[in-house]
Amino acid sequence: MLVSAKEMLQKAKAGHYAVGQFNINNLEWTKAILLTAEELKSPVILGVSEGAGKYMCGYKTVVGMVNGMLEELKITVPVALHLDHGSYEGCLKCIEAGFSSIMFDGSHYPIEENVAKTTELVKIVKEKGMSLEAEVGAIGGEEDGVVGKGECADPNECKAIADLGVDMLAAGIGNIHGKYPDNWEGLSFETLDAVQQLTGEMPLVLHGGTGIPDDMIQKAISLGVAKINVNTECQLSFAAATRKYIEEGKDEKGKGYDPRKLLAPGFEAIKETVKEKMELFGSVGKAE
Ligand SMILES: [Zn+2]
Repeated sequence: MLVSAKEMLQKAKAGHYAVGQFNINNLEWTKAILLTAEELKSPVILGVSEGAGKYMCGYKTVVGMVNGMLEELKITVPVALHLDHGSYEGCLKCIEAGFSSIMFDGSHYPIEENVAKTTELVKIVKEKGMSLEAEVGAIGGEEDGVVGKGECADPNECKAIADLGVDMLAAGIGNIHGKYPDNWEGLSFETLDAVQQLTGEMPLVLHGGTGIPDDMIQKAISLGVAKINVNTECQLSFAAATRKYIEEGKDEKGKGYDPRKLLAPGFEAIKETVKEKMELFGSVGKAE
């Protein structure tokens, strides 16, 4: 059964490790992440962006697939199904469809509007026993033309949003989505520290986990990050493994064109990436 992310993240924050959010795109992705979490006895959060939700034929399809797998694969570790960067309307749809956690990305609204919409969602989510992530300080990506440095959130705005009763808070600390530019200046630990000082026990979320050096990830965890989002890295490892299979001509040998064979190397590559991240984040064995 799907669970809210609240308890697993509170445990992670208290235990000084982080739970990975791995974004899913299809059946192979979901199966690879769930099996790895179970093998490593790690709690896990499955992230679904609005775009990926559409691609997978809507949120109800996603909920059906994930719930089916939890049962058929006999998954025993805590699993949350989480909307990533949701719009207000997207959040309502996922609540309705049976997600166990949502992120409302109100970072592009003026802070007053972010507060108002987050307040409404806190009410609904609490009634349903779900968890809610809020964002302060937009986290951009290469496509937004971020060069050198991502945005840093205002710690006082973080405190204002944290006090509304959200369960986890994403704050921009110089991180960005996608691949980091060569001249990236690194994470702003000063900002992270200031945010944690004001928000106390609130689990903090680090978006854009792909390409942040391991030592920075570990330092971020020591400063209160309890959830780390990984998306691009699984895409890159899946693509590289699939490319290798085809370039080696394996799809043209025997029944190598069978999708169950063609997608197998990519599937294994996702499992390997998820395993590396769970080891780095310290979540292995935490669901025992
Ligand atoms: Zn993000």
